[in-house]
Formats: sequence, structure tokens, C-alpha cells
Amino acid sequence: MHRRDFLQQAAALAALPVVGSQIRSASARFQSKPLVVNGARLNGWLAQFDGIGRTPGGINRVAYSDADLAGRAFTRELFAQSGLQLRLDAAGNMFARVPGTDASKAPILIGSHVDSVTDGGNYDGPVGSFAAIEVARSLAEQKVRLRHPLEVVVWQNEEGGTIGSKIAVGLLTPADLDKVARSGKTVRDGIGIIGGDVSRLTEAVRKKGDLAGYIELHIEQGGLLEKAGRQIGVVEGIVGLRWFEITITGFANHAGATPMDQRQDAMLAAAKFTVAVNDAIRSETGRQVATVGRLNVTPNTTNVIPGQVVLTVDLRDLDQAKIDRFTARFEQLGRDIGAATSTKFAFTQLVNSAPAISDSRLLTVIESSATALGLSHQRMPSGAGHDAQEVAHIAPMAMIFVPSVGGISHSPREFSRPDDITNGANVLMNAVIAADTVLP
Ligand SMILES: [Zn+2]
Repeated sequence: MHRRDFLQQAAALAALPVVGSQIRSASARFQSKPLVVNGARLNGWLAQFDGIGRTPGGINRVAYSDADLAGRAFTRELFAQSGLQLRLDAAGNMFARVPGTDASKAPILIGSHVDSVTDGGNYDGPVGSFAAIEVARSLAEQKVRLRHPLEVVVWQNEEGGTIGSKIAVGLLTPADLDKVARSGKTVRDGIGIIGGDVSRLTEAVRKKGDLAGYIELHIEQGGLLEKAGRQIGVVEGIVGLRWFEITITGFANHAGATPMDQRQDAMLAAAKFTVAVNDAIRSETGRQVATVGRLNVTPNTTNVIPGQVVLTVDLRDLDQAKIDRFTARFEQLGRDIGAATSTKFAFTQLVNSAPAISDSRLLTVIESSATALGLSHQRMPSGAGHDAQEVAHIAPMAMIFVPSVGGISHSPREFSRPDDITNGANVLMNAVIAADTVLP
């Protein structure tokens, strides 16, 4: 969309019936010129944060560790100095709420997480978390009040399976509570350590209608934007994921005494299947991906024909129908290759998570905001999981990506340029202002 079209749209939206004079001033500002955050302040926070949990191997703020607690304490301090009153829910998620002018409205939520993987980087999570704090602070400083309340959230333990956001949408299972985080603590114990209360988790659950919408800024964690030379990724959704474990049964026999035409070689079948999965997934246009990632061979010995192979397939796409279609295709490949190699393929589904599709209104406000700020942008799926996929169960959501240099993430070499981070925060701020108009 061109800037002029955007302004026309903003003007049209601003012409909708509104309540209160402050709202008009917010809309008027939005029409004339996009607002900007204090990028130096935001990047300063990130630079300071880099000192917390930094080890020779990388950033280690794994959930419930001492470094995670230190990171949360730092974040709490940012809330305080930004005039945001912190509320901890029973899960240990950090929230702050800025009232809107219309008390009947559900809040717009923005935020991300501050925990890291083992030997990770400083940008996955903190960029979106601190940008959300910065946006709330900048709006207050620039005296912009929204109709909706604005809530900032910092979710706990994203890297251990989007635990905090799962609790908030009521999808955490009892088995999840017994999961052991990288810090060695269970989720159950971890919740207590960070100030939550595992006996009151239901109080942290938010239902459909409790949130007007959710927007999360995040680093891309891939190289698409950098390669395309674009500044902003407009995330159409978070891909669905299906994991299979496939047991291929042949017959273990002497590698010297068994003629080539009398073998039931499970390894050969696995090799053919691995190539066939790759060929199949690449035979169609689109962003679908499939990976054979693990292979266990029995007996795994030099002079014995492999009798059994267990392998895994990881299949992802934004389109559920496509995931189903490729599932059927892989099963057919198993039958065909099994017949050709005198082996048997047995499929077990390990994980099945549906795609989370972004809200079209939020995609439009993100694109319009990027255009108004003069930033290049493109739509793209997220191949990685995020808290936004959990929030999608109860509220309209969308995500904004900023480039990751070299497409590297979950690594000490993870890096996003300060200018790109500022751009992302600016898009977030203007998207929030526009969302305030388009969301009910
Ligand atoms: Zn993340």
C-alpha cells in the first residue's frame, strides 16, 4: 500500500464514531505523521541486558535459572522506571496495564519473553518484550491515549514449550507441569521460584473475548528478510507441525553370506525413504518443509544387514490441508518403498500442532504502519514456534519480524541491528494505534 492510500485509510478509520476528545487527538497524530519510539533507549536496555546470563558459550537465561531470575528482575525494573505497574499472574507471567478511554473495551496485548535457550543470544524474546515496554512508555510520553486498555506482557518459559502463554489460554496439561526445564527444575517448581502459585493457575487463564488482540514483535530467526533486503516481516501465521516416528522392519542377516537379491535391508529402505521425502516436499511450490532428522539403526554393526531402522520426520506448513496431504503422501511412499525392499513401514505420530493463522485486520495495520514509516516489508510465515500461537486460541493475533543478521538464532552469534529493532518497535507502536481503531 502507498503512503497516500494508508493515510486515506487512516482518515477513513478515524471518521468512524469515537468517544472522547483524546481519541481524536490520537487518530489525528496517526494521520499526520507516524509516531516513533525512543530507539536509543530501547537499544540501550538491550545492550545492558546482554550482560545478564552471558557465559563463554552464549546467553544462558534458561527458564527458572538464577540468570532467568536476574533477567526478570531487570525487566521488572524497566516496568517500574517506565511508569508501568507490574502485576504477576499465577503462572509468573509479567503484566502491566495502561487504562484506555473506553472502559468497556478488552485490552490490546503486546509483548514477548525474556528467557533464552542454552547457549543462545540476546535478541530472541527481549527485543519484543522491551519494545512493548518502550511502546507503552512512548505513548504515555507523547500523551497518546488509546480507546482500548494497552497491556504489556512478558511471558515466562517460552523456550521450554511456550509454558506461560499456554497457561494463560488454559492449554497447559498436568504433564507439562512435570516437564523438566533446562535449568533442571520442573515447570511446577519453576512457577513457584519466579513468584507464581501453581495451585492458582486457573486464575491466570484468559478466555475468548478477554483480549481485543495480540501483537508480538520478534526477530525473524531465519534469513529470508535479509536475503530479500526487506526491513519488516509481516507474519501471516505460525506454521503447523507434525512429527512422525517411523519404524522400518527388515531382517538382520549376515552381510557376507546373504546375496544382494535376498535381503530385507531396513537401512536401504530408510535411505530411499529419506530421499523420497525430500523429493516429494520439493516437488510443489510453497514454503512447506520436511526433515528426516533422527535415525536409529539396529543392530548398527559393520557386518550385519540392518534389521530395523527407526527414523523421524518433521513436517511443517502454514496450511493444514497441505500438512494432511503430505502426511498421506509420505505414508504411500512408505508402502511403495516397503514393497520394493521387502520391508515394513509403521508410522506413529508424535506431535501434531495446528497452524496459527494471523488476523487479517492486524496484518493490514502492520503493513500500513510499515508503509507509513517508509519501511519495506513482506508477508511471511513463521517456521518457529512463538507465544503468539497460544494466544491465537483466544484472540486475534499477528507478529512483526525484524531481520536476523545471517539468519542466525538460538546461537551466541544471534544479532539484529539496532536500526532494525527500532524500526520494528516503531511499526509495533503505529500498529497498536491503528489496531485501536479497527479492533472492536
Ligand atoms: Zn522467542
